[in-house]
Amino acid sequence: MQADVYAIETTTRFRGISVREGMLLAGPAGWGEFCPFPEYDDAEAAPWLAAALEAAHDGWPEPVRERIPVNCIVPAVVPERAHAMVVASGCATAKVKVADEPGSLPADLERVAAVRDALGPAGAVRVDANARWDVDEAVTAIRALDRAAGGLQYVEQPCVTVDELAAVRRRVDVRIAADESIRRAEDPLRVAVAEAADVAVLKCAPLGGVRRALAVAEACGLPCVVSSALETSVGLAAEIALAAALPQLDFACGLGTRALLREDVVDPVEELRPVDGWLPVRRAAPEPVRRADVAAGPERAHWWSGRLARVSALIDPRRAG
Ligand SMILES: [Mg+2]
Repeated sequence: MQADVYAIETTTRFRGISVREGMLLAGPAGWGEFCPFPEYDDAEAAPWLAAALEAAHDGWPEPVRERIPVNCIVPAVVPERAHAMVVASGCATAKVKVADEPGSLPADLERVAAVRDALGPAGAVRVDANARWDVDEAVTAIRALDRAAGGLQYVEQPCVTVDELAAVRRRVDVRIAADESIRRAEDPLRVAVAEAADVAVLKCAPLGGVRRALAVAEACGLPCVVSSALETSVGLAAEIALAAALPQLDFACGLGTRALLREDVVDPVEELRPVDGWLPVRRAAPEPVRRADVAAGPERAHWWSGRLARVSALIDPRRAG
């Protein structure tokens, strides 16, 4: 199987990394992307490989929609900048990062107010706390942010644990979305059983592919939002395929992430960048010259080859060399 390793700089530091690495795998159905984060062990990387092999060998279920609404992302920036970013995106939904550092609530309130002003009353404002609050902080902040935003669509991952999410959810009127709490296929069921969230954020890569993620969505019974794992357009196409195949899609997806990477592996006109807040539903194949431009050095390529061999053996012992 052809397998290329890429290394692409990110536009801002993300999860402590400034270079995104991964592998592109070719198969009879097309290309898949294998890009578990470097700190993941082989067991945690296994579903990522299953997702890449599904893309390369099986393709994806038929879409039920032709385009996917996406949200823009507003990091911890000053209100004027937040306003300008939302207007420039053309998106009707904005996700605002909050709780970036202790004591940030006053700045967060100003930022969400600016975002509401930019979107107008018909737009949707959601916030993402990336699990930074405890329960009491979350309740206080969510009530204040909901007022400042003129109504929040939902709050993503206010606290770390499922029990804390459930406790917050009982005390506020805003929907709770579980993101970090959902990384493995069993997690959404736990979240649903604990009545810890109203919305599940799904990524097909850590869940083992589009079909597995669809099964998880059905089993948990929660409205789902699809989010990317900071893939190139090849991997984004798989996340888009999941969003396209969900029977119900009530909210904009977090798939407008192409701009977070400095480069891509597909032809520029094929890049999966949103236009006016929408992404098309289609596959993406690497373009040879661009693929060569972002090829990782020999040392990193060697590391990824070893990882691929180990994880392949883990998910299918017959592949072990
Ligand atoms: Mg999140």
